Amino acid sequence: MLIYPKVKIQYPMSLEREYARELVKYTRKVRDICIKRIPFMVEAVAANAIHKDEWTEETTDEVESDIEEEIAIAAVILAMYNRIRIWNTRQQEKVFQSMFGGKPTRGQMTPATLRKIGEFIGQTPDFYDKEGKIIPEKLKLFQQKYSEIVKALPKVISQADYDKIREIWVNRNMELIRSIDRRTMESIRYTLSENIIKAVDNKTVAAELKDTIVRMTEVNEKRAALIACDQVGKLNSQLVQLEQMSQGVEKYKWQTMEDSRVRPQHQSYNQKDFSWSEPPDGGHPGWAIRCRCVAIPLYDTDKIGLQPKAGSYKKV
Ligand SMILES: [Zn+2]
Repeated sequence: MLIYPKVKIQYPMSLEREYARELVKYTRKVRDICIKRIPFMVEAVAANAIHKDEWTEETTDEVESDIEEEIAIAAVILAMYNRIRIWNTRQQEKVFQSMFGGKPTRGQMTPATLRKIGEFIGQTPDFYDKEGKIIPEKLKLFQQKYSEIVKALPKVISQADYDKIREIWVNRNMELIRSIDRRTMESIRYTLSENIIKAVDNKTVAAELKDTIVRMTEVNEKRAALIACDQVGKLNSQLVQLEQMSQGVEKYKWQTMEDSRVRPQHQSYNQKDFSWSEPPDGGHPGWAIRCRCVAIPLYDTDKIGLQPKAGSYKKV
């Protein structure tokens, strides 16, 4: 029997908003550091009135090392990873608890599998002859059957799986943030070299640098908010898949927010069943940018060998 929970599956909207706020805050701190550095940049323009190579790079390198020293963005990203992971685990456990009580076994042998192995072990004397010696053909048969059972076990979830996801996610987020900063530094360098060509006074250089920095921050804030939404959705989707597969869940029901912001492709997937091993066109729920769709786990009670609580589920 294939069933799914009546309990609603949530999207981590509040964490998404919080991460967006954190990353926007970061772009504003970068802005303040850049503005603080304007007097040094103006000096650099004056000192390089006769054009020398690479002085603009040296100037922005200094700004970038200030940013790295003064804002611990890696810690913010890592903290967010941990919160999304904890949030996700709790949600999956809540869903499991609502249907079966207790916590999911996560890759350990389910009662059904244990029963199967138990029945099977009852036959093991078969591969011994009367003297207690092993009969190779029968032992081979036993090993074959045993490996079939083992193969059918849910994927074992390990700390290494989580460590890998964390490493990739944190690195990717750092890269995205640094790419925002690189564009700001490029604009600053452009303003610096433009002003040296025009040979204007210090006050004008300072004003133009401030304009550039403020204008770039406005763009960066929007970009940072978008990165936050996208990255929370993608991480959540991966964690949901890992958790569900480790519980032996092979399929899920696609659930959209059922509002006007749902993209047409996802509207057409709503309430349909998909396999974790075969993502539909565009990927699993949460893969697409700004996607808020969720995956409702479909539990095969015959496979997991547990009886759901009455009224806690619907049949597929
Ligand atoms: Zn969607």
